[in-house]
Parts: sequence; C-alpha cells; structure tokens
Amino acid sequence: MKVLVLNCGSSSIKYQFIDTTLQIALAKGMVERIGMSSAVLTHQPYDKEKIKIVGEILDHTIAIEYVIAVLLSPNHGVIKDKKEIDAVGHRVVHGGETFSGSVLITDQVMKALKDNIELAPLHNPPNIKGIQASKSHLPSTPQVGVFDTSFHIKMPPHAYLYGIPYELYKKYKIRRYGFHGTSHRYVSERAAKILGKPIEDLRIITAHLGNGCSMAAVKGGHSVDTTMGFTPLEGLIMGTRSGDMDPSVILYIMAKEGLSLSEANTLMNKHSGLIGISGESSDMREIEEAVGEGNKKAKYAFDVFTYRIKKYVGAYSAAMGGLDALVFTGGIGENSIMVRNNVCADMDFLGIKLDDSANNNVQGETLISASDSKVKILRIPTNEELVIALDTEEIVRGQLEPKSAAV
Ligand code: ADP
Repeated sequence: MKVLVLNCGSSSIKYQFIDTTLQIALAKGMVERIGMSSAVLTHQPYDKEKIKIVGEILDHTIAIEYVIAVLLSPNHGVIKDKKEIDAVGHRVVHGGETFSGSVLITDQVMKALKDNIELAPLHNPPNIKGIQASKSHLPSTPQVGVFDTSFHIKMPPHAYLYGIPYELYKKYKIRRYGFHGTSHRYVSERAAKILGKPIEDLRIITAHLGNGCSMAAVKGGHSVDTTMGFTPLEGLIMGTRSGDMDPSVILYIMAKEGLSLSEANTLMNKHSGLIGISGESSDMREIEEAVGEGNKKAKYAFDVFTYRIKKYVGAYSAAMGGLDALVFTGGIGENSIMVRNNVCADMDFLGIKLDDSANNNVQGETLISASDSKVKILRIPTNEELVIALDTEEIVRGQLEPKSAAV
C-alpha cells in the first residue's frame, strides 16, 4: 500500500509518501511558512535531486494541493495519478482519553478531535485543518488518525493522576497523558525484535531525546509511565522547555516579574531548558561545543539534562521491578556520544554498562552495551512516519481493531 503521511503544524506540513511493502519513503518533504507569500516547499524523491519551490501558500488546503501536485509532477514526482495514494495517515498530537489506538477518520471522530482541542490548543487545530484539507483534495481516500498520546493511554491511575483534587480530573480531564507515543512504541518493538525476545517478557526504558524529550517505561509492550504529562512540558529538560519543577516557582516568578499567563507559558516553553540555563543555545550540538570550550553555564545545562534522564532511569527501573533494555532515540539520543555516556556512567549497580567503543561508533540500530551488561543498551533511530503508515494500512485493511471507544 502507498500511504501519504502528514504531520501538520500551524505554519508547516511535513510529509512522507511511504510504500508499506518496501517500508521506504518514495518521497518526503516539507511545506514551511504557510500563510505567507514566500512559503517554501522542499521535496525529496528517493531517487532524484531535492527541489525547492517558493510560492504563495496561504493555508493548509493550498499547501496540500502543492504536495499532491509535486507527487504527481512528471519531473520530480513518484506517481502518475492521485488514485495511487491508497490512504492518508495523519499524526494527531492529542487523543485525550477518547482514543486508545489509531482510527479511521469519520464524522464522529472529527467531532471527538474537535472536543479535544482544549487539551492541545496549539497542536490539534492545525492537525484538524490538515485532515479537512486532505479530505477536500482526496474525498474518496481513507484518512486515518494516529495519536501521540494513545500508546500511553493505558497507564495505570497511580501513574496518570496528579496529586490535586480528584474532582478537577473529572471536571477538566487534568491528568498525565504523555506524548511521543508513536516513537516509544516503535523503538520498544524494534528493541524486542533486535534482542530476539517477546516484548511481553521485557521491561524497556525508551529515551526519545530530540528538541522535545521524553522517556517511557514500557513493560510487556505497554507504556506504564512516561515523563511528559498533561502537556509536553513535564519531565525532562528539553531544548527550550523547563521539564519538572516545583509548581510554586512559576507562581513566584509571575508575582515577582508581573508576568501574564501567556508570558509565563512562553517562559516555561520557549525560554527555559537548555537555552534557559546556558543562555547559549537550545541545540545540543552547540551546548556540547560550548562545554568543550569551558563554558560554565553550558556545562550546567548539559549536566542538568543528563542527570534528569539518569534519575528517571532509576525511577522507571523501580516502577517496572527491574530493567532489561535501555533505548536511546531522537536527534540527541541517536547522535550524542556524550549524552549516552553521561547517562550510563556509574550505573553498574543497576546492571547498566556501556561499551565505549560501540557507543563511539554507532550506525543504524546498534547494541552499545558491554558484553557483561545485564541491561542491554541500544541506539535505535526512530521512524514515526513508518509507524503511522503501517497503522494506516492495518486500519484500512480492517486488520486493526478500531479503538475509538472511551477508555
Ligand atoms: P525534533 O524533536 O524537532 O524532531 P530531532 O529529533 O531532530 O528534533 O533532535 C534535534 C536535537 O538533536 C538538537 O538538539 C540537535 O542538536 C541534536 N543533535 C543532532 N545531531 C547531534 C549530534 N551529532 N550530537 C549531539 N546532538 C545532536
């Protein structure tokens, strides 16, 4: 099956056109600066030169029209007819408590997505716009929604409830949801395959470290806890997000600095984390460079970042009653020798022992633990688009149980 995978943000759309049998992207690209007269579409067919198209792309409907046109283009395209797009798979950030798995998008599902807008006011509206635009261009093509939250939705109440009055959970659905679910699911399943063991028998910690960062405790193939919560702000230190902190801190800063709600939100989401502590950059490569040059604040940022990951490795080992595998993924997890090294340092007591040479020479999916390490450590490049494409195929073929019922 050939599936168009769409990840729609407020001013950008990332896409991949995936052949699920070959498990490769026949083409991938991105539309940026949607809403502006100088929007840019970058398109990369798998066997041809990358191209850039600049044009006036005022909304998501026009952006998707461009994407379909470039897929059909005689010079840069990979299909001859729109009908070759068998299905469209959409990344949807927040499924709330409604979706415990991927679903075929029906009118009823669209309504449920709209009902969840309050939970993800920044992310769900552009996701919905993308679905509407895609339906308008491909009205008879099945559309499937794959949620960032659904892998975590079966977390037990002791992991998802906050220590606030229970009525507030019931009234506003304030609970921990978790995100990056497609990535945690993909790398934990790959880890089980690589280790040659049934996932049902494994306790795996997955660390998705990119611009956004989260970890998950995956026991028997299910996420039993994860570091992001009601929003993606909770948990690890990220490029620009604070992660965990005493909630009183933000009230105190708001009072002292006279910040509005929206300014406080911006402070925690955009000016904190690596950029906030270092004052240098939100990009781990630049942090590592600054650390190498002896920059003290960059070193604090790096140390706070890795220390928090280490703490969660301990916490999740306890939560699962032990640990069989630790997986690193995402831009930082896949590429930073220093981060993997620091997280795994002095963890022999937990059975975690890195093989330095393997850690320094990773390529593709790599086992990087020492031969006498009880816990297997793996570097696994994530592939969220492939998961979306495969889920879409299963839903369309009717092989995956629709799971839109409330949980
Ligand atoms: P996103 O979450 O936006 O998909 P990525 O998964 O691409 O982001 O991760 C981006 C992060 O990966 C950035 O902090 C970047 O510095 C980091 N990164 C990429 N390559 C390296 C590298 N070689 N060493 C350290 N960090 C890296």
